Amino acid sequence: AREAYAARLPRSAAIHARAREVMPGGNTRSVLFYTPFPTAMVRGEGCRLWDADGNEYLDLLGEYTAGLFGHSEPRIIEAVKAALDGGINLASVGEKEAELAGLIVGRFPSIEQVRFTNSGTEANLMALAAARGFTGRTKTLVMRGGYHGGVLTFANERSAVNVPIPLAFSDYNDPAAVTRDILAEGDTLAAVLVEPMLGSGGCIPASLEFLTALRAATRQTGAVLIFDEVMTSRHGAGGLQQRTEVIPDMTTLGKYMAGGMSFGAFGGRAEIMAIFDGHRPGTLPHAGTFNNNVWSMAAGCVAMGEIFDATAAEALYARGEALRDALNSACVRAGVALQFTGRGSMLTVHFRDGVIDRPYAASQAEDRLRELFFFDMLAAGIYLARRGMVALSLPVTDADCARYIAAVEEFIAARRPLLA
Ligand code: PMP
Repeated sequence: AREAYAARLPRSAAIHARAREVMPGGNTRSVLFYTPFPTAMVRGEGCRLWDADGNEYLDLLGEYTAGLFGHSEPRIIEAVKAALDGGINLASVGEKEAELAGLIVGRFPSIEQVRFTNSGTEANLMALAAARGFTGRTKTLVMRGGYHGGVLTFANERSAVNVPIPLAFSDYNDPAAVTRDILAEGDTLAAVLVEPMLGSGGCIPASLEFLTALRAATRQTGAVLIFDEVMTSRHGAGGLQQRTEVIPDMTTLGKYMAGGMSFGAFGGRAEIMAIFDGHRPGTLPHAGTFNNNVWSMAAGCVAMGEIFDATAAEALYARGEALRDALNSACVRAGVALQFTGRGSMLTVHFRDGVIDRPYAASQAEDRLRELFFFDMLAAGIYLARRGMVALSLPVTDADCARYIAAVEEFIAARRPLLA
């Protein structure tokens, strides 16, 4: 499959060869790397993509959730153009940022005040800074297998070598362990940072028991509970927290919320966010040249104010649930060790039986199947993450979902001997 892929995409191969001369691995965004070389896309429209060799794809990756609106939503393009026509960097506060902040505060139960950043990574770093400033403590507890951005990767303890703050680790979806670990840290713990569904870690939803345990234990020790909803905020108008009704002290956001322009945000209880209030003494600095850039703010107002309302969020969630149900039914019918986990419009394929409720070390056989699945999907004209994640965007139709289901059924039929 890999050889056929390489032969089909000579232009992507050439782009990679050139890139390797000037960037390590030919890459500036690790998640996009895979061997022999990544596909180079050159154009997108709605939920269609075209690569440098002219092949067309159904885009089921949706820019790892940031592409929620598709590649050419006219209202977003209009808003960005209008913003740029007014001048690019004005070195001043504008009108749009308060409008976008108002939209977010009005929707997320945990967010009384909010600030903007350029990325989800920065949003998490600033939320941790706020928690440390607010509590006067230093340590942060994170989950093994969690992901909170390029410098906050917690696949295991070793992957956290670049994290500049003291960490404690606990296990996802283990209410007893996390309660014990939080209480053991006691009043040294400034924050607990957790995704209400592991995104990069395999679209593994948190159980309600786990979220409830986090809430109870942090309330007991005074640690700030931070939900990283950079990906999961799409699961409802007020994020996944609105659905689970477990409300953290702070929430971090990113990805799609500025209509696909670069974006991040962190917010929470007013008494915590007050640490950034310039009207008060002892303010914690939060600077950033592009924090309120006019194109992100303008696109965000349209994206959140006009397009992705509660109705749109519910419809997208329902479409994703139906897709995952249909895929899992097909796997059960075929009797193969293959399943799809996730919630709503985000799902990931796994090549094993049984309940998957925490991160696991995949076997070599599983890794090989995952790679084969990816290349078979590309050959079928379906673009998804190399790790097997799909994130539906708003332009994706039921017919597009049916096409993915058919492609998975074909994969099962063609590769059955390899599937246990
Ligand atoms: N948190 C989560 C849960 C994410 O999935 C990501 C990005 N995949 C981030 C944070 C980081 O966001 P960004 O890539 O915008 O820095």
